[in-house]
Amino acid sequence: MLRTCTLKEASQLDGETVKVCGWVHDIRVLGKIAFIIIRDRYGLAQLTLIRSIIGKENFKKYTKLTRESVICVQGKVQKTEQAKLGFEILLESLEILSIAETPLPLGVADKVSADMETRIENRFLDLRKKEVLAVFEARSAIIQGIREYLAQEHFIEVHTPKIVATATEGGTELFPIKYFEKDAYLNQSPQLYKQILMGSGFDRVFEIAPAFRAEEHNTTRHLNEFISIDAELSFADDNDAMQILENSIKNAIKHAIESEALNALEQDIETPDKPFERVTYDDALDLINSKGYSMEWGEDFSTEALKILGKEIDDFYFITHWPLEIKPFYVLPFEEKYSKAFDLMYKDKELSSGAQRNHNYESLVNIMKQKGLNPENFEFYLRAFKYGMPPHAGWGLGLERLVMIVTGVKNIRECVLFPRDRTRLVP
Ligand code: ATP
Ligand code: MG
Repeated sequence: MLRTCTLKEASQLDGETVKVCGWVHDIRVLGKIAFIIIRDRYGLAQLTLIRSIIGKENFKKYTKLTRESVICVQGKVQKTEQAKLGFEILLESLEILSIAETPLPLGVADKVSADMETRIENRFLDLRKKEVLAVFEARSAIIQGIREYLAQEHFIEVHTPKIVATATEGGTELFPIKYFEKDAYLNQSPQLYKQILMGSGFDRVFEIAPAFRAEEHNTTRHLNEFISIDAELSFADDNDAMQILENSIKNAIKHAIESEALNALEQDIETPDKPFERVTYDDALDLINSKGYSMEWGEDFSTEALKILGKEIDDFYFITHWPLEIKPFYVLPFEEKYSKAFDLMYKDKELSSGAQRNHNYESLVNIMKQKGLNPENFEFYLRAFKYGMPPHAGWGLGLERLVMIVTGVKNIRECVLFPRDRTRLVP
């Protein structure tokens, strides 16, 4: 056994001999005594090296260790007021497992200060920082919160293909790939497949999986590969879908708070206790226009328009009753010009889009044609509407957008281990 406990576990002890492992965070030498600060995922510990105990040769060797080298040590834990951490490990023996080269391409002991490019370039080192790790601990807790809630609501977790023959919504935001002798694409969304599963009687499904968008723009809230959390439920309308989404978000935030990951980020967020506000598209439009901005009915909200809206409603809220023409073909029409589509927003950021779906075969085909799509390309999807399709509703939620809100980081790239953006394909 390399170690008997983690550094956090060691911090709870007093008088016991332990074996711990980690990275050399920092070294200070004060004559015949030296301190190595060792770090693992759970925290730091001070190793106290006394020359007369470990010998002159060892003392010299260990105090010359480079930062970020990996070591395992044995020693006795002692509570002490003198150490900043409140305890120290009095070193008995030390094993060097891996020596780090110098200089480091990116400092770990220092606060995050390097630019995003340098950080991503040296991501393995960047991820050693406690506040960077905390984003991924929060991300993990968020996924668990959503999974727990949806499972409790009897949703089946599914996986649909990511290599597909047709675009979900037409359009150009597709990555083409070669599939033997055929042309294929990376899927933009599991939309069509999760709807087919409603026709299969699965009743309630969800999927947490990558989605690929060949969007050319480089923004702080778009990635070319992101994780889409999708849910779809049968015998349900837009209100039912919104309720499931709202509860999922609340349970995600609750889990993130309970995980304590947010402490390292000094992020102060509470689980929302009130129902999310709902604003119709028309009311949002009026509100924006009343603030001196000019937006026409039927336009999508521009970044600037959303800034105005986000200032007015500075929390989670739904925008409902969207014009049919700006939403995808699969949303349910309502009162001619409108649809049963909704977006979930947080301040000025879109978090999720959803809708009650159009489950009527003829109407679906007509709307596809109106939108310039060829129904023949969607035959595999449309077939599921011809032999018994229940009314259904659902949504797609961008995991990284939610992680941004919960952790408070400003750039979506920080919420992904190895981001894929307009120019970045490695690491
Ligand atoms: P936006 O208008 O913000 O580009 P969208 O309306 O094109 O998003 P949808 O097709 O509605 O996106 O996808 C559902 C959700 O997936 C979005 O609300 C968002 O949270 C997330 N999402 C979509 N595209 C991206 C992307 N390129 N990077 C990260 N998340 C995304
Ligand atoms: Mg959307």
